[in-house]
Amino acid sequence: EQVYLNGVYLPLADAKVSVLDRGFLFGDGVYEVIPAYNGRLFRLEDHIARLNNSLNGIRLPLPHSVADWEAIFRPLLADDRDQCIYLQITRGYAPKRDHGFPEHVVPTIFAMCADIKPFAGRVDGIKAITLDDTRWQLCNIKAITLLGNILLRQEALDQGSAEAILVRNGYVVEGAASNLFAVLDGELITPPKSHEILPGITRDVILELAAAHNIPYQEDVIALEALHNASEIWVASSTREIVPVVELDGEQVGNGKPGPIWKQMDDLLQAYKKSLS
Ligand code: PLP
Repeated sequence: EQVYLNGVYLPLADAKVSVLDRGFLFGDGVYEVIPAYNGRLFRLEDHIARLNNSLNGIRLPLPHSVADWEAIFRPLLADDRDQCIYLQITRGYAPKRDHGFPEHVVPTIFAMCADIKPFAGRVDGIKAITLDDTRWQLCNIKAITLLGNILLRQEALDQGSAEAILVRNGYVVEGAASNLFAVLDGELITPPKSHEILPGITRDVILELAAAHNIPYQEDVIALEALHNASEIWVASSTREIVPVVELDGEQVGNGKPGPIWKQMDDLLQAYKKSLS
């Protein structure tokens, strides 16, 4: 299995980075996960735009164009199955461990490809619990520093749930690794973009499909109590697509089955993916 590291393609087992890399020592880096269906990268421009926002957010701009990135990813992709590219960029190797940015540092750029199975959990739905959002304040940056997300997801798993839905100041914001949607009074609602959430590409696609197919929707805050009264709850991400939550905090959501608006949106997403490949 070939991976990309700093301009070279090599077997995964041979891809090595110094222990002085700032990604290893500080979690000083950002990442992207880009799905590819039958070898075609999905919404690549949007993923690269978000990558550039993340890079600017950590003051590590890179000169690569979308075409440059595509050329890097292309040799990693197979053309006969669903995969995703994992891209990670750290501030690079510095000879001395020091919090301040080193001078003349060369970023470490790593990319690998993995198979994805977006259908997991989709048909029956999943259980989720709400947890206090203990992450930092810059959740719009796709930082590799994921301890907050990891601890929250593990807490959910330990309690027999597949996802943690995170609460800040009485409002739900997103999942530990997903964006959040709820159907309230027949209207699809998702929290607005802000530093409190990662601006998901799947989220953008869902809102575009809602607009194009006259599904009433709004970007608005969702209070925790309102979520407990939602008729449908979904979590959405590139690798798992749109997953219905059928039990929240031990209580059934709606009638305890994936809802009709989820079904409609999932059909629209599958048709949209097909139209691109
Ligand atoms: N929010 C968080 C915290 C995530 O980690 C992710 C992706 O894994 C998302 C949202 C969804 O983003 P996307 O649809 O671009 O995968």
